[in-house]
Order: sequence, then C-alpha cells, then structure tokens
Amino acid sequence: MNNRQLFLSHLAQTTDFPLLIEIEKAEGVYMYGPKGEKYMDLISGIGVSNVGHRHPKVVKAIQDQLDKYMHLMVYGEYVQSPQAQLAKALVSTLPERLDNVYLVNSGSEAVEGALKLAKRYTGRREIISCVNAYHGSSHGALSVGGNEIFKRGYRPLLPGITNVPFGEMEALEQITEETAAFIIETVQGEGGIRVASKEFFQALRHKCDETGTLLILDEIQAGFGRTGKFWAFEHYGIEPDILVCAKGMGGGMPIGAFIAAQPVMAVFKNNPLLGHITTFGGHPVSSAASLATIQVLKEEKLIEQVAAKAELFKKLLKHDKIKGIRNKGLMMAVEFESFEVLKPIIDRAIELGIITDWFLFCEDSMRIAPPLTITEEEIQKACMVILQAIEENS
Ligand code: PMP
Repeated sequence: MNNRQLFLSHLAQTTDFPLLIEIEKAEGVYMYGPKGEKYMDLISGIGVSNVGHRHPKVVKAIQDQLDKYMHLMVYGEYVQSPQAQLAKALVSTLPERLDNVYLVNSGSEAVEGALKLAKRYTGRREIISCVNAYHGSSHGALSVGGNEIFKRGYRPLLPGITNVPFGEMEALEQITEETAAFIIETVQGEGGIRVASKEFFQALRHKCDETGTLLILDEIQAGFGRTGKFWAFEHYGIEPDILVCAKGMGGGMPIGAFIAAQPVMAVFKNNPLLGHITTFGGHPVSSAASLATIQVLKEEKLIEQVAAKAELFKKLLKHDKIKGIRNKGLMMAVEFESFEVLKPIIDRAIELGIITDWFLFCEDSMRIAPPLTITEEEIQKACMVILQAIEENS
C-alpha cells in the first residue's frame, strides 16, 4: 500500500473532505510533494507556521536542545532552561500583571487549565462562552464551544455553561456575581473570522471587573503576531485575567500555555486539592523552538508587516463571486455564496499549487492565513491563482 492508501486505511479519519495532499518537505511558505509538486501554503497548518515552515533559527534551536536533553521530568519539578527562558520571553510581551506561565502541549489543554483555574480562583461554577466559538476538542473545551452540531453527540458536557452571541452588548447582561469566567476568542477563528468592536471588549472587561468574573482570552489562533499585534487584545486596549495560547507559539512544534497573574495561578499550588498536572507540558524541545519563534517574530519585524500584507490581499482579491472579506491582519476569510460554490474553487487552487481551505463553522468562506513571512510577490502570485480558480469555475 502507498502512503495515501495507508492514510485512508489505518489513520483515524476526522473529516469527509481531507485535503489528501502528500507532503515530503516544507520550507518557508512552500510545501513539496514526493514528485516535486510545489504548493504555497496559505493556511500555515491552521495558524501555526507564522514564521514559515522550518525557519532556520527554529530548526537550530531544536537541534541545539536535542544535543542537551529531551524529556526529563513532569512539568514543574526540575529547573529547565528552555522553559524558564521561554516564560521570561512570554511575560516580556505581556502587561506586567500577567507574570505566571503554565506550559502545556496544545490549545485544548491550555483551555482546560484556564477553566479549572478560573473555578478554583473564584470558587464559582458558571462559565459564559460565545456562539460559534471554538476552544478545542476535549470535553471541557468542547463544553464551552459554541456550535451545537459539534456538541450534540457528547452530552452530558460540563454543567453551568451559557452561550451568548459574540460581540453583542446585550450578552454582557448575562455576567453576574455567580460567573467564574467569560471565555472568548479575541478574534473568532473557526466561526469564520468574526471581529468584535473595541467598545464591546472594553465593556466586557468592565463587566468582568464589576462582578469579579475572570476574563479568559483565547488567542490560540489570533496570537503570535497573526493579527498585526503580538497579541490581538492589544487592538482593544484591554487585558485578560487568563490568556491562552498555542498554535503559532511553537513555530511548528507542539506547545501551549495559559498565563495569569501570580496570585491567581497560586491557587493551583495549594494542597490538598489537585492543581493541574502534565507530563509533557512545556517540552524542552518545543520550549526552545518557541523561544526562537518569538525572537524571529521580533528580529524580522514580521508583525509590523502584517497590516500592509493583509491590505494587499484585500486589494487584489476582487471578483463578482467574492461577497466580502472579513479580517484582522492576516487572519482572513473570503466569503462566497455557498460551500458548493467555494469547494471547486479551493480544489482548483490546490491543483494550481495554492493551498487554502474553509472553516469548521463557516463553510462558505475561504481561509487565508499564510506564514507572516510571505512576500509581496508571493501574495500577488497567490491572488492571481485564486482569481484564476474562480474564473474557471464561473
Ligand atoms: N482555540 C482556538 C481559537 C482554536 O483555533 C483552536 C484550534 N483550532 C483551539 C482552541 C484548540 O487547539 P488545539 O487543536 O491545539 O487543541
């Protein structure tokens, strides 16, 4: 059996429409198939490869760490330089108050940790989340998700969760002295790139302060420069109580974190109640990769270039069949009439060497989230091919 047959026979399938492209090597914004096929990656493995595939400085950091040690001990016991240095680099990007980092392996795990922490710290049980939110696939993260179809097969989920409309002021009336946390994506990703107003986020922050509710911002997709600021919350002039991140954090290696002020995080330390434990969280190789990723984002001034690159996409992607473009920086959704119109366009673009896809909860829109390293010429090429794919399907 070839790899494609093995993939279909022996790997658990997660979708009716896997992209089914075989990749042998990836570098920068490009991926290469076994027969030398060349693809430009416009989705970055869903917002992961912000510094491009196999950035040389990330690869070097990984190799250097491999020469020292891999796993030593469960998280939080030994002093490991990559974890300590990464924590320092992370807090240096954040408001002073957010000075305690808990390293985990993935986005879902970061969300689990954040929800548990909010319950422990406040002693409350109720959590509010948004319609069309995606916070992950584990039971807790799924419970605060905002898509009924995804949740339906797994009830009973966590009790005490209320789903409110994303970005609507009236939703804030649901926050009370009983609410442990309000969890929200700073920019909704899988809902199809939905952006809320600055006024909404400021009112949300205010209501959380008023009621003693912790504000959990999920920047798993929006963080690490994707929206044109290091953290998307910087656009709104607010701060979270707990920040969750992953994806772009490891430059292609698995790692995530939930981050809070020390007095909040301290409740996990108190015995006899179990706090939060992870064997592989903050793996030293992933931590080294993450530290290098933060350095690359800064040294190459990638975040400063995001707004102009996003504008170029928007300027070039003009066609009768495009209903509109929603974006915050290089987190973009190009809207079409329906999935039926969009699917053959994506298939054709892939044949022509440009990889895009759609969103979990928004199937009429094309995802554009390239590595932030993409050049102007590459954006022009990508848009030309997308327009050609649209034309050929008109
Ligand atoms: N939150 C958001 C906003 C996400 O986009 C995702 C992943 N798509 C997650 C949480 C879950 O992350 P992971 O797949 O690493 O568990």
